[in-house]
Amino acid sequence: MDLPVDEWKSYVLQKWSLLPKSIQVTICTAETLSDIFLHSSSLLQPEDEMFLKKLSRGYLVGKDPGAPLFYREEGNKKFQEKDYMGATVLYTKGVSHSRPNTEDISLCYANRSAALFRLGQYETCLKDITRAQMHGYPERLQPKMMLRKAECLVTLGKLQEASQIISDLESHFSDRQTVAASQFQILQSTLCRLKRKVQEKDNPTETFPAALTTGFEDMNLREENEQISCASSSVTLCTDPLKGRSLIATKDILPGELLVREEAFVSVLNPGETPPRRDGPESKWDTRVTNGDLYCHRCLKHTVATVPCDGCSYAKYCSQECVRQAWDLYHSAECPLGGLLLTLGVFCHTALRAALLARCEDVGNVTRKLCGEMSNRAICLPKSKNLVQTVSHDLGGESEKNGKTVEPPVSGCDINGKYESNYNAVLHLLPHTRNHSPEHKFLCALSVAALCRQLEAAGLQTLTTSLKSSQPKAAVVPAMCQELHIWGVAMLRHMLQLQCNAQAITTIQQTGSKENIVTDSRQVRLATGLFPVVSLLNHSCSPNTSVSFVSTVATVRASQQIGKGQEILHCYGPHESRMGVAERQQKLRSQYFFDCDCLACQNGKRRAAAGPRWEAFRCHRCGELMQGDDVLSCGGASCTESASRDRLVSRLQDLQQRVGKAQNLLRNGKLTERAIQLLSGCQRDAESFLSAEHSLVGEIEDALAQAYAAFGDWHKSAAHLQKSLRVVEVRHGPASVEMGHELFKLAQIFFNGFAIPEALNTIQKAEKVLLVHYGRGNDELQELQKMKSCLLDLPPVPEGPAV
Ligand SMILES: [Zn+2]
Ligand SMILES: [Zn+2]
Ligand SMILES: [Zn+2]
Ligand SMILES: [Zn+2]
Repeated sequence: MDLPVDEWKSYVLQKWSLLPKSIQVTICTAETLSDIFLHSSSLLQPEDEMFLKKLSRGYLVGKDPGAPLFYREEGNKKFQEKDYMGATVLYTKGVSHSRPNTEDISLCYANRSAALFRLGQYETCLKDITRAQMHGYPERLQPKMMLRKAECLVTLGKLQEASQIISDLESHFSDRQTVAASQFQILQSTLCRLKRKVQEKDNPTETFPAALTTGFEDMNLREENEQISCASSSVTLCTDPLKGRSLIATKDILPGELLVREEAFVSVLNPGETPPRRDGPESKWDTRVTNGDLYCHRCLKHTVATVPCDGCSYAKYCSQECVRQAWDLYHSAECPLGGLLLTLGVFCHTALRAALLARCEDVGNVTRKLCGEMSNRAICLPKSKNLVQTVSHDLGGESEKNGKTVEPPVSGCDINGKYESNYNAVLHLLPHTRNHSPEHKFLCALSVAALCRQLEAAGLQTLTTSLKSSQPKAAVVPAMCQELHIWGVAMLRHMLQLQCNAQAITTIQQTGSKENIVTDSRQVRLATGLFPVVSLLNHSCSPNTSVSFVSTVATVRASQQIGKGQEILHCYGPHESRMGVAERQQKLRSQYFFDCDCLACQNGKRRAAAGPRWEAFRCHRCGELMQGDDVLSCGGASCTESASRDRLVSRLQDLQQRVGKAQNLLRNGKLTERAIQLLSGCQRDAESFLSAEHSLVGEIEDALAQAYAAFGDWHKSAAHLQKSLRVVEVRHGPASVEMGHELFKLAQIFFNGFAIPEALNTIQKAEKVLLVHYGRGNDELQELQKMKSCLLDLPPVPEGPAV
């Protein structure tokens, strides 16, 4: 997903292996990215481009004229089955394949408005009705949709507007008796009833509260740092010749304190686990739901009712405003390249978008400064008025050879020593050019070169068509040959930077069946972004901060107390609670090119033999933990039991499979009893050979809690969840975000079981943990607030039965 698809990867690797040794050496020993790009792109042949084109055509990214009808019919089926969410998404797919101002698009919007109405999303329903009308919804169908509009308005308490529509419809129906008239009467009586209700209350505005406004006040930094934008004044930027840049606490920091709040310089929505491909003519349109269907491609807001780009079927947005902004900033250049960008992967796409965004920055100062750094191969481009020209030479160590430039104190800072979240800072993120393998550099360079050729072709087209149709401003595409070379070098640099600097933008997604009262959640990767300020943080496998995202904004909070002078650290992925020390070290070395020497790794190496308790086996005889490598022996003093690791691992895998089966049953919300049976068997089995804190034991308990919750047996559910909680605590720690989510679940169970003191107690604990990681705006925290006020309002429960 990050890198190009496998077919292109192996094609390029084959091409590399067939290159004459001398050319390979030239590329391997090239001093600068500019040289690497120059040599590689000169090797891109027409047949390579043809192959890439063939792969790109495998993605359905254009508007397919047959698709709207297909998706509308599929949506109607879901609608009949009362799966309104499923229907909504399918209508959305229909919308995205329709051309503007066609009956197709208006019908899809109208049908979607009906599904949204059933989902209770009245505001969005009204928007879709307006959209349907805007695109020419047929006159003959209007009354039906107007009825829906009136009903929405009534429900939202906008009685005046509703009455207007009702009276319009009244006059419409007065001359012809239609079937809809009976429906209309029902609606009118609804209106009357509601009118009365409102009059009784005498306070129409309070009947329908506006959407909950989230508490953003604490989302702002208390005091912004003068040296680093987007950072709090509790930190300072230091640089060290060995370790590079780092953020250090300038005072004692408390858990939960906001340290960085930064909007992504660039972000690209990940297309989902399996982007739709249409190989072979017989395969139908894709009905699967991916992230691309559920989140705005610009601001990443969760939206089931998206509006599409007019030119393609894959870019979807939360609003017309996002459509316009995306188009102006980058999508006008990306729109015709959808299939190619999916083929070349998210990193390549992010690299292109970063370069496109750079042109929109006010870059005068940066340009002048960086021009000074171009020592021996400055390229003068009198016509270029953008930043990318300055990339014509590698930044990085080599640029200081001449010693002529006045270097700011820390790389990435401006002339006044200020570090800002802008393209200059992005450009200075390390690409680690020397650490990447020659094959990898060749793959990236050739991919970027192919992208440049397409940009050039598409750019000329856009340029001519936009002149003809006098379109509003659009992202500028490089037309000049030389400028293209500079774009290529910039994009190659970004692609290499991304391996170490890409930040996964994640979101918490609700899982579990719709009937589930207790919501479960999991973290999913939504997008890839570059955050120059967050990138200043160094890695630790046991970090002292926690990162969360709202839309494209990253928030870094202290997750524990940080003393004055200590370094602010965050985890690049390999966390000590998810991976053993050897695996972490290996991953950090291969992806980030360093040997981790964090506290967790130092401690881990010392006690590597025993392994963590959430992965430990135990003796079936005495219950003590087993130790050893290939053959494990019991740690009990008077026990001589031993077992081969292979046998234990295969038992574990078998158990994992059975647990997975039970979890599937639960997810479908059917056969819950069968799931409980299965899980109880698993539980007994697990007890006989896994440690009590084994993560699989936790999963079994968690699933049992879910199953009993589905039955409404809150007592049993809570008991199981508490066991799962203990496993989470051992593994992730009592103040971890994982613990927060688990406590949130437990609070819901107690709440639903009316166990008031337990619920209040758990709510308090959950709040304390979640507040540290997310601050007040968080959904789960608001839910906890609501539960609390609901519980505190309840009359006291009588103490035991009266005698
Ligand atoms: Zn948006
Ligand atoms: Zn488009
Ligand atoms: Zn480490
Ligand atoms: Zn034993």
